[in-house]
Amino acid sequence: MIPPLIFIAVWRFFIARGGGGPQGALSIGKSKAKVYVEGEAGKVTFNDVAGVDEAKAELVEIVDFLKTPKRFTDLGAKIPKGVLLVGPPGTGKTLMAKAVAGEAGVPFFSISGSEFVELFVGVGSSRVRDLFDQAKKQAPCIIFIDELDAIGKSRASSGFYGGNDEREQTLNQLLTEMDGFDAGDTTVIVLAATNRPETLDPALLRPGRFDRQVLVDRPDLKGREAILNIHAKDVKLSEAVDLKQIATRTPGFAGADLANLVNEAALLAARRNSSKVEQQDFAEAIERVVAGLEKKSRVLNDKEKEIVAYHEVGHALVGAVMPGSDQVEKISIVPRGMAALGYTLQLPTEDRFLRDEAELKGQIATLLGGRSAEELIFGSITTGASNDLQRATDLAEQMVTTYGMSKVLGPLAYERGQRSNFLEGGMPNARRPISEETAKAIDEEVKSLVESGHQRALAILQENRALLEDLAKQLLEAEVIEGPPLREQLKQVQVPADGHVVKDAELTTV
Ligand code: ADP
Ligand code: MG
Ligand code: ZN
Repeated sequence: MIPPLIFIAVWRFFIARGGGGPQGALSIGKSKAKVYVEGEAGKVTFNDVAGVDEAKAELVEIVDFLKTPKRFTDLGAKIPKGVLLVGPPGTGKTLMAKAVAGEAGVPFFSISGSEFVELFVGVGSSRVRDLFDQAKKQAPCIIFIDELDAIGKSRASSGFYGGNDEREQTLNQLLTEMDGFDAGDTTVIVLAATNRPETLDPALLRPGRFDRQVLVDRPDLKGREAILNIHAKDVKLSEAVDLKQIATRTPGFAGADLANLVNEAALLAARRNSSKVEQQDFAEAIERVVAGLEKKSRVLNDKEKEIVAYHEVGHALVGAVMPGSDQVEKISIVPRGMAALGYTLQLPTEDRFLRDEAELKGQIATLLGGRSAEELIFGSITTGASNDLQRATDLAEQMVTTYGMSKVLGPLAYERGQRSNFLEGGMPNARRPISEETAKAIDEEVKSLVESGHQRALAILQENRALLEDLAKQLLEAEVIEGPPLREQLKQVQVPADGHVVKDAELTTV
């Protein structure tokens, strides 16, 4: 008796769902975009966003475009159509897009990329069309596409067997719409957000589409304090709470994590039946949030922070005395973007198209500066230098096989065809057929180039050990050292005079 009953019940369920109602098949293509209009309660402005000053500065300009498009079009300037916000989750991309709409006082259409990708072929693309139609009627306005990577995945990467037809159609429609509207008379600016820019189809990033990219990164110490200040306004704080100290203890936290932290602390205070949130609540909340965060992103413990600090200062000290014109601009141990635990930023002081042998060797030594500092200070090596080693080895290999810089192997190109310039991140080509001995000689030369860079870095760091320790301590304290104060200190780096700097002749013997 039971099976038929179930069958009937299920059947009725489907009839009830499918029959009539606003959710019927006819409305399926209509855009589900949520519209926020100016004046709505809880309007977001730039005051609600902190710790991402560079991104904010870029977006202030977008607000100007929306407010006074004539100022730009009268000059004959084209207003940008697409701006891509790139950054890890929870750094405030959605919040900033809303703030742009709030500041400009224009409607804000928001839709998430994953909502586009639906069951039936053709739905996604008609939804894109609807969205743009609606937006054009309300121009000037903002369309915000969250999780752009869900539709914008590179068509090439979607696999050998043609990939996902539906997504491709949706993407094509999006490209058509973006090309279609003329920024001259209707100001519709498309903002989009992604945390995986590398997967996006290159067609999306072409001029006239998302040709502006704004990096929304995790906040540094000052930024975290500012964000805590914003969110702490919503809770009753005890006077004893020191937000700066909390900011110091939360490197790697994104804005959303900090907002969550403040809320956790308030919940803990409520559990204690306290009328105010105390420092101890924050301390406990940090532990809870960190435990949850560790899987999501990198929050360094104190020991790791120390290692990263020495590692980065190692790069900076060696980089400061190497030939060539790149200047060390910034050292940071705020886990940055999606790859690095810390970073040392070297900026060229002029455009360079040629590098000589000495400079390339200097680059190899600089790349090894991080690992050498770890060896020198901690006597052991971590996994943190793998990318440095990769780059140093690639560079050494290019010196030997592409630029003919090895005395042993001579001015021969061991690769077929012209390898694109390494300064532009070229890909390796296939090797020419070579003898076993030559292959061995190449390996040896590459190894000796990298190893001598390593020795050179070690020598410099040994000579400047006091400065290394001093700078690392400063870095642990401040998380970021940059600009003139950094340059001033790096001037003190001494180049060892005892002939430890490796001469060309030694290269093949090290
Ligand atoms: P994303 O879109 O980058 O993943 P959201 O904009 O959705 O991040 O951020 C979620 C919440 O976290 C925001 O609503 C806000 O409360 C908080 N938040 C994130 N970043 C910031 C920031 N830079 N300043 C202030 N609050 C922030
Ligand atoms: Mg978001
Ligand atoms: Zn490094």
